[in-house]
Order: sequence, then C-alpha cells, then structure tokens
Amino acid sequence: MSNEETHFFRAVLLAWHAGHRRPLPWKGERDPYRVWLSEIILQQTRVEQGLPYYERLIAAYPTVEHLARAPLDDVLKHWEGLGYYSRARNLHAAARHIAFERSGVFPNTFEEIRALKGVGDYTAAAIASFAFDLPHAVLDGNVYRVLARFLGIETPVNTPEAHKRFSALAQQLLDPTHPGAYNQAIMDFGAQHCRPRQPLCHQCPLAVHCVAFQQGRVADLPRKNPPAPRQQRFFLYAVFQKGHSVWMQQRPGGDIWANLYEFALWETNALPQEPARIAPQVAARFFSDTSKIAFHGVFGPYRQTLSHRVVHALFYVFEVPADVDVPQPERSLEQPSAAAGWTSMDKVEKNLALPRIVAQFWREKILSCRQNEMLHL
Ligand code: SF4
Repeated sequence: MSNEETHFFRAVLLAWHAGHRRPLPWKGERDPYRVWLSEIILQQTRVEQGLPYYERLIAAYPTVEHLARAPLDDVLKHWEGLGYYSRARNLHAAARHIAFERSGVFPNTFEEIRALKGVGDYTAAAIASFAFDLPHAVLDGNVYRVLARFLGIETPVNTPEAHKRFSALAQQLLDPTHPGAYNQAIMDFGAQHCRPRQPLCHQCPLAVHCVAFQQGRVADLPRKNPPAPRQQRFFLYAVFQKGHSVWMQQRPGGDIWANLYEFALWETNALPQEPARIAPQVAARFFSDTSKIAFHGVFGPYRQTLSHRVVHALFYVFEVPADVDVPQPERSLEQPSAAAGWTSMDKVEKNLALPRIVAQFWREKILSCRQNEMLHL
C-alpha cells in the first residue's frame, strides 16, 4: 500500500469510530486488569453474552488481588455457561502470578503481557495498546475481514501463511500515534460496518479504495478453508442418588471441561440403540454388586457442540441405598478424578461448576422432577 492509502485508511477508520462508539464498560478503559479481563472473556464470546459475565466478575473480583485470592472453584463457578473453561483457569493462574510474584504490578511490555498464561498475540496487542498505548496491531476475525476485502486478498484466512501476511499488513497499517484508538476502530468497523453478511458498502467511507467493492468480490472475501470435522464423543452418565445426595466427581486435567464437575462417567464409542436395556451394565461399571441399585430411568440424548468436538450424552438415574458405599469411578476413567464424593443436591448447582450439558440435564430433569416429586426424593 502507498503512504497515501495508508494515511487514508487510518484517517477514515478513526473518523468513522469517533461517530460510532459502542457504550461498553471496557471501552476506553486504561486499567490493565479490566482490559485483560474483558479481552479474555471476549476471546471466544460475543459481546452480548460476555457483558454480564464481565460485570459479575468485576463485582466479585474488583482487583487482581481479589481474583488471585479466590479459590479456583469459585472462579469456575462465576465462569459457568461461558465455555472454554481453560480461559478461567489461565486467568486465575495469571492473576496469582501478578499478585504474588509481581507484587500486584501488571506487566507493561508486549513481551511480558504475552508471557501471561492464556494470552496470545491478539490479546497481548489489545492489552498493550488499550492500557499502555503501545504500537502493537490486533489481528482478530474482524481485522482479517476488513483487510481481506479492502486489499482484495484471496489467501484463506485460517492458514499459517495468512497469519503471517495479515499480521505484517495490520502492523504496517496501525496508526503509531493512536494505537489503542486505531485498534478499537478497525475491530468495531469490522463488527458493525464491514460485517460478515450485508456489509454497508454503499455508505462506506473506504469504498473508493476498497478492492473487493470495486471488483465486485465482497461476498467472496475473506476466503476460508473448510474446518476439520469435529470429533464425536459419547458419554453415558450414571447419576447415582442416595437420599438427598448425588455422586459428583471433578474432571481431570488434559481433556475437555478440566476441573468441572460431572456424574460418574462411562465413555463409549457410540450411544446404545436401546438405552434402557443397558442400564444394568452402566451400574455394573461402578458397583461390583448392583442388586440393591434401583434404576429410575434414562434421559437424553443431550448434545453439546464444542470448538473441535461434539459430545452426545445419556443420563442414567439410579437410587443407591444408604448402606452402599461409593461408586468406583476409576473403573471408567483413564485418570482418577481430582475430587469426588456425595454432594447435597441443593449444593450441586450452587457450589459446583458444571459443563453446560450436565447443568441442562440437572435443571430440566432432576430439579423439575424433584419439584413434581416424580422421583419421590
Ligand atoms: S466497501 Fe464494503 S467491503 Fe469494502 S471496506 Fe467498506 S464495507 Fe467493507
């Protein structure tokens, strides 16, 4: 791009942004803790979904010290429903690092910010530019789209080659005198004006120099290679109830939903054709003597789509008599659970962070059945 085009691009974006600011609590924020928190929440989350979580987290943990001193289970509970729980675990670990190893002083260089757990290039550039006005260009989906269209770039954006090329272009176009404002402007322009569908080309201040618009290629850009198919996983949950308690176990690390809580789990290669018929086998995975275990019913399948996987789950509900001890979850798990035990049913939702599919089943079947006394608990 020529110098003239670069100046045009920057000036137009900054002028556009001056008239299109979105009134969000983190906009214009200079406190690096708040900027960091908002950026971690927004990594894989829409603004509308992330906003109430940001407000709840800031209320619960107003400073990095508050977050660092909170138990991880509490942080995960506040995060419940937002998904991608590694973000919450990394946030907590990084808060502890800042509070206890840096005396609460937030890092203020790109490299140090980038070294925090859970912070990648994009998030480091956002924090560096918004909180410290450092000249580092952000590169998110909005920036890819604006640049691909404005410059007419055909390279599929989900390739390493594109990452290299677009990073260099984004850095070249960044306004070094107003990096924070510029970064916010290009992202908001992509989100609100140069939108994925129905971009506002006919009222666009960039249109005169926009290659995609001038060549009629807006609908074709940005290009993307088709994603790899998602892995299918099949979970048979055994919901063991004993009086007013239920058996809960914490998921181990190194897999989806690390540290969240679930019921006793048998992972299989497929869901059974006739789910109720294998209820005795499900119970037998966890108890050597199943003669006193009463089967109440099976619910599902439930389904949850994650970024790289789809989880299909059935929930088998059993009543366990008082004199029978604990199930043996290690019989079904590669790794033993981090924590496991009988939990009061009133505390399951209140105290434990649950995967969305487990929480959904819990609310729809167990809580509503309890209210209707269908399970005679
Ligand atoms: S003219 Fe259309 S495609 Fe080009 S930058 Fe503007 S909104 Fe985006």
